[in-house]
Amino acid sequence: MKFWIGVDDTDSRKGMCTTYVALLMIEKLGDIGNLISFPRLIRLNPTIPYKTRGNGAVSFALELENLDKAMEIADEVIRKYAELDDENTNPGVVFVKEEKVQYLEEFAKRAIKDVLSIEDAYKVLERYSIPYLKYKNGRGLIGALASVGARLEDFVYELITYRYPEKFGKPRQYDEESFYEMDLNLYPLVFDTVDWCNHVIMAVPSTPCPVLFGLRGEDVESLKKAIKMVKTEKWEKYTIFLTNHATDMHIIDNGEIKDFRSYRIVGRVVEKPYEIIGGHVFLRFETSKCILKCSAFEPTKQFRNIIRALIPGDILEVYGSVKRSTLNLEKINVLKLEKNFVEENPSCPICGKKMESAGKNQGFRCRKCKNKAFEKFRFEIPRKIETGFYEVPPCARRHLTKPLIRMNTDKKHIFR
Ligand code: ATP
Repeated sequence: MKFWIGVDDTDSRKGMCTTYVALLMIEKLGDIGNLISFPRLIRLNPTIPYKTRGNGAVSFALELENLDKAMEIADEVIRKYAELDDENTNPGVVFVKEEKVQYLEEFAKRAIKDVLSIEDAYKVLERYSIPYLKYKNGRGLIGALASVGARLEDFVYELITYRYPEKFGKPRQYDEESFYEMDLNLYPLVFDTVDWCNHVIMAVPSTPCPVLFGLRGEDVESLKKAIKMVKTEKWEKYTIFLTNHATDMHIIDNGEIKDFRSYRIVGRVVEKPYEIIGGHVFLRFETSKCILKCSAFEPTKQFRNIIRALIPGDILEVYGSVKRSTLNLEKINVLKLEKNFVEENPSCPICGKKMESAGKNQGFRCRKCKNKAFEKFRFEIPRKIETGFYEVPPCARRHLTKPLIRMNTDKKHIFR
């Protein structure tokens, strides 16, 4: 019988990774069942406060005869490898018969775009009589169910290598150049590996987890070429996941703005963007329903220059997640640029110097030549940006954010 197994919430900031725990589970379950196709790494709502890092959950399909035995094996793996001592680690594992997966699609959509409760997960588990394992408060059941139910219309692959256990927590050894070299060769089939402008290798995490590096790509062949090109310490094993990374699956179109959700909204810039200490840039933006504060925080680096260049009247489509009533920008589509006029006191036609005010409602005069003028001089300054899409650089990109290189649009300004 074909079962989908979903796993979530097994790691903590101190170590481990749900993809690794799931992989160990797949290996151990290999004694009693056969893995069908790729395991899936599904990213859920990126704004959820309980997340450890990227709010990822894993699911995989197995041909199984003995469910009780499979649950026993999964339980052993969780007890042995999950970070159960951490107060924020609350694992959940679900075992869903293939024909019931369709009933979880709506739940998964909500887990990716919305905020759910543990009770929501229990309702679904009871309603469809889904066997499960839960540890502590069982919050991981939300992600476990969602990772099984997510229907991926768009997807990419993620190849993840894992270190030898004795290396966990120690500095990673790798040749930076080789990652840039690989990017030169395989981009955009393999993408978001490095950030050329900000000198960051995104493929290599800095956390104490078992992952050595992760490569993101459009097809399996390119990822297999890529793994041969990067030079690193020896890894123990690797897996290729099918994933909703880089798909914008978290984005809600024009919904009612609420905290902890992500949106795509059209509106108008209402005042000149302003900056605060630390280099964070803010924008006030008028939508059909409200005035929304949007932010481009310091880590979004050169993207802030695009926001700084906006002026009142510009029409944009903004993409981003809302927290504390502020939308953190992931990308913008500049739909219409307002003309940028500047007014100055007129110049004297004889001596060329700027005229001065002749008094209230009296126009302007040149003190030296006695020339008079009645209106300010108005002229247009060319804009520093043009219409089209702009995105945050790779080092500031969320797993779920669709990079412009993957978007089917002509007018895009790619930060690579
Ligand atoms: P990693 O990606 O390194 O595995 P993580 O960032 O995925 O870690 P978790 O430890 O899995 O973080 O914690 C996220 C928790 O939030 C899980 O318990 C998951 O079930 C829960 N969760 C996920 N999406 C939602 C949602 N939309 N509403 C409520 N809870 C959610």
